[in-house]
Amino acid sequence: MNDCLFCRIISGEIPSKKVYEDEHTYAFEDINPQAPTHVLVVPKKHIRGLKEARGEDSELIGLCHLAAANIARQRSIEDGYRTVLNVGPRAGQSVFHLHVHLIGGRGLQWPPG
Ligand code: AMP
Ligand code: ZN
Repeated sequence: MNDCLFCRIISGEIPSKKVYEDEHTYAFEDINPQAPTHVLVVPKKHIRGLKEARGEDSELIGLCHLAAANIARQRSIEDGYRTVLNVGPRAGQSVFHLHVHLIGGRGLQWPPG
């Protein structure tokens, strides 16, 4: 989708700090990091968000989480990190291409705000 920010990042049209890429997923540094590690992992397929995802998307969603877990392992933040999907504007979703936030490298409060 050429009006989607993250599709344009995946295609390279908009620059990003790439962290990881494979056939189905792309990971990059969040432009406004909320922790020492704040990486976004997205499926290359445009999915608007979790509530729009379908059964056929379940493997992609799983792959995004496993990519996040691998990045966390590589960065030695496995003592505590969080994977987060903001779903809908009231939860803070601002980009409507499904993305997993990988946040870590500092203590994390519970519950989140
Ligand atoms: P959300 O608010 O859950 O939809 O998350 C969107 C995230 O995308 C926010 O954490 C933003 O800081 C991040 N973001 C927005 N534009 C860019 C960009 N051009 N490159 C990297 N991250 C971005
Ligand atoms: Zn998109």
